[in-house]
Amino acid sequence: MSDSSYYTALPGEGLERQLDPRLSALVEAYPEPALLLNPGGIVLGANAAARAMLGQIRLGAPVSLMLRAPDVLEAVREAGASGAARLVAFNLRVPVERSYEAHILPVRFDREAKSGVPDLVMLVFRDLTQAMRVDQMRADFVANASHELRTPLASVTGFIDTLRGSARDDPAMREKFLNIMSEQARRMSRLIDDLLSLSRIEMNVHRPPEAAIDLVSIVAHVRDSLSPLARDRKVEIALDAPASPVLVRGDRDELIRLIENLVENALKYGANGKRVEIGLRVDSGEGVLSVRDFGPGIAPEHLPRLTERFYRVDVAQSREQGGTGLGLAIVKHIVARHRARLSIESEPGKGAKFSVRFPLSTG
Ligand code: ADP
Repeated sequence: MSDSSYYTALPGEGLERQLDPRLSALVEAYPEPALLLNPGGIVLGANAAARAMLGQIRLGAPVSLMLRAPDVLEAVREAGASGAARLVAFNLRVPVERSYEAHILPVRFDREAKSGVPDLVMLVFRDLTQAMRVDQMRADFVANASHELRTPLASVTGFIDTLRGSARDDPAMREKFLNIMSEQARRMSRLIDDLLSLSRIEMNVHRPPEAAIDLVSIVAHVRDSLSPLARDRKVEIALDAPASPVLVRGDRDELIRLIENLVENALKYGANGKRVEIGLRVDSGEGVLSVRDFGPGIAPEHLPRLTERFYRVDVAQSREQGGTGLGLAIVKHIVARHRARLSIESEPGKGAKFSVRFPLSTG
């Protein structure tokens, strides 16, 4: 290809050029937003992804009219003048803030030419917003998990020192401190169990369970297994379920865990309502499970965040109840793996109702 054959001047169009259709086709086929510029920064070609990212793209106009990112524009100028490739990170604030990186790539048709003014400059964008969000979540998660473990660990370490020192010869103190230490150790082990379950369920989220499971027998099982806790909290558990099986595609252990977490929360946080209702019914091709309590309920501002890891309405109360702050995050992940839907309703002062709608197993 000769020096100027990749674009031809359109009569009367000044700087406006028309790109060789083969090069246009190449940019169009590229999956990420991409622009082809002449060394002077005039846009010669763009693909659909670039139009989606930058809005209107006018071929023949300078790229600076379409992209408000001074660092990228400076790098484009440099690449056009000297042929230097660059990678620039930048943010676009309109319509919502997003983070990108731009690869500014000089293109030379003569493979021997290693420097100097390039024939074209290619501008390729990668949207990093989602990846950065995931990184941030991972960092927050590790910080939260470490913090949650550090508190009981500090308490155990402190009591070990006390037992070696002042409480050494005091059997009553020793007994008291050993009890606290054992409770703190149990708390750490609950936290580790919950973290492991969460990561196991998360790992399998794209592999929906295949076994046909009867929810009627599972709710009865959970009611029985939590009856000691209910007695302890002086709460009556009422179960309203059909006599015939309600079959869903599911993982038995995960379904038990899901219902246990909801009923346990109702018993722990809603105990003063004295009654917890577990309901199961079939409605429009779905199995609908509900767990309702008559306790203090949850203020509306907390509802959207309740299933976040380590989110608690009242941290001290959750700790006192032996909570890890992961129960509803586990519920959310099990719900997602079962292609089910979770909804939470609450009227403060009147209690809370957690419902899960499962698609019924069709055979
Ligand atoms: P935790 O281990 O703290 O129980 P969860 O993820 O199970 O963690 O629940 C998160 C928070 O949601 C709890 O700390 C509590 O503040 C609130 N919560 C959950 N269920 C109920 C309920 N039935 N009534 C009132 N508050 C609840």
